[in-house]
Amino acid sequence: MEVPRTSVQGDPGRQPMFGSTLESTEKGDMHGVTFLGLLLFAGGFLYLGVPYVYIRWLRHRQDRRMKTQSYIALTFDDGPGFRLTPAILDLLSEHGVRATFFMLGRNVQGREHLVRAVADRGHEIGTHSYDHLHSWKVWPTRAIADIRRGQDVLRRLLKTEDVLPFRPPYGKVNLFTLLFLLCKRIPICMWTLDTRDRNTWRAKSRDGETIAEALRRSGGAISLAHDFDRTGTAFDDYVLTTLRTTLEVAKEAGIRFVTVTELLDEHARVSGVPVRA
Ligand SMILES: [Zn+2]
Repeated sequence: MEVPRTSVQGDPGRQPMFGSTLESTEKGDMHGVTFLGLLLFAGGFLYLGVPYVYIRWLRHRQDRRMKTQSYIALTFDDGPGFRLTPAILDLLSEHGVRATFFMLGRNVQGREHLVRAVADRGHEIGTHSYDHLHSWKVWPTRAIADIRRGQDVLRRLLKTEDVLPFRPPYGKVNLFTLLFLLCKRIPICMWTLDTRDRNTWRAKSRDGETIAEALRRSGGAISLAHDFDRTGTAFDDYVLTTLRTTLEVAKEAGIRFVTVTELLDEHARVSGVPVRA
């Protein structure tokens, strides 16, 4: 009589079934890990990659406009500073040129007279956040609050309701800060010619002549320098020397000076309004 095959023991059919269950669990785990990896990658790309590509595109667009129309916008970040800002203003007045100052909210306190001096001489004021936070390294809410606070401090001081142009600290935005800027219609201004006037391992690699050559070759640019107070005065001389060279070369080459608003407004006519001394 044939014995029914109900016992586990000696049942050749059970072992492969148990093995395939293990195998499918492993496969399921692998799929889970792959899915999680893809999710993280997609999230990271959306959070940092998309804003990065947008900023690259924006910089390219602004660079092309400067070159094709032979414009130069002089921009100064992180100020105002007690020593450099007045010296820069004097130099710009000598040449009758207007520039744009992207000020840091925390540097405005105690230097309100410098902010007014910049505005009174016809220059443009933009914001550079309050605390110079890197939007890739802090929570989006903090980065947005930093941008908002920087705007508020300057708008209150300048008694204006207008949004001020913004330069992102370190040139970086994340998805949420970018959406905030776009929703609030805050114009973003990048730079295309770095004078490298910072005290880092990459600084000092350019001198006035290198910058002059870069400007002659490109035919237009948004230059970046810094007017905050540094320890020591070595960089003050560097900033003023490179600025003097840039002013002279741009004039020789017939490159016209624009402010950031004139640059960002595609339809704006370049006013060429001379700076008030
Ligand atoms: Zn900065």
